[in-house]
Amino acid sequence: MAMTINEECINCGNCEPECPNKAISQGSSVYVIDATKCTECVGAFDSPKCVELCPVDGCIVSDGAETKDQLQAKYAVLHA
Ligand code: SF4
Ligand code: SF4
Repeated sequence: MAMTINEECINCGNCEPECPNKAISQGSSVYVIDATKCTECVGAFDSPKCVELCPVDGCIVSDGAETKDQLQAKYAVLHA
């Protein structure tokens, strides 16, 4: 369940500094999320912080690829 940013992104930059895993960076056209680092905020917050801060509804969506247990394990590795 890593999150992805779609073309709706207006490049406001709100999300980047607030990611607990430093998974967000500015891309060539819109901001991008490194799926190897995003845990959908599992391990850090109750819900995805970037979604909370994004002014554009539906801009940041889950790819649905990982279970909560897998995301928790990813968080543990990232912060070991
Ligand atoms: Fe970062 Fe959390 Fe957004 Fe994933 S969901 S990119 S970990 S702020
Ligand atoms: Fe783009 Fe939303 Fe991040 Fe702003 S908060 S840079 S609109 S993804």
